Amino acid sequence: MDSEESQQRQSVTDPDSPPVPCENCAAALRSPERSRYSFLLLDHLTTPIVGCEEHVAQFASTCGYTTDDAAKLVEHRPAGGIRCPSCQLAGYTPRQPIIPVADGAVAVHACPEHQSELLARFRTGLETQQRLTTTLDTSDRPDVL
Ligand SMILES: [Zn+2]
Ligand SMILES: [Zn+2]
Repeated sequence: MDSEESQQRQSVTDPDSPPVPCENCAAALRSPERSRYSFLLLDHLTTPIVGCEEHVAQFASTCGYTTDDAAKLVEHRPAGGIRCPSCQLAGYTPRQPIIPVADGAVAVHACPEHQSELLARFRTGLETQQRLTTTLDTSDRPDVL
């Protein structure tokens, strides 16, 4: 537990990172170097993601709504590696913005450009997901538009 103390001090000095309700995600985000990366394969993007298994999978499946191919999640560095050189470097940056996923959060270790691309896809995926669910549940018009 002593390693957790030093990590907590870090999060106190870090007011812009919101608390993550999912403890497994929070633990993974606190010490990404000790967590296992998952690699999200989405179209031309290969992106290391940190978070708990459940929320990383949820993030991947939501992003999958934005592609004709399924978003794939692998537990080891894929054979082709990370193709974008900036993303390769981004993997070593200690501070990464985190993306809330339901009651968890994941960190996307990509360059700013691909990070925002993934984030945009995640948002689009969420909308698609919601539209599909509401269509199944009720026949109400979406009043979000
Ligand atoms: Zn989680
Ligand atoms: Zn990149």
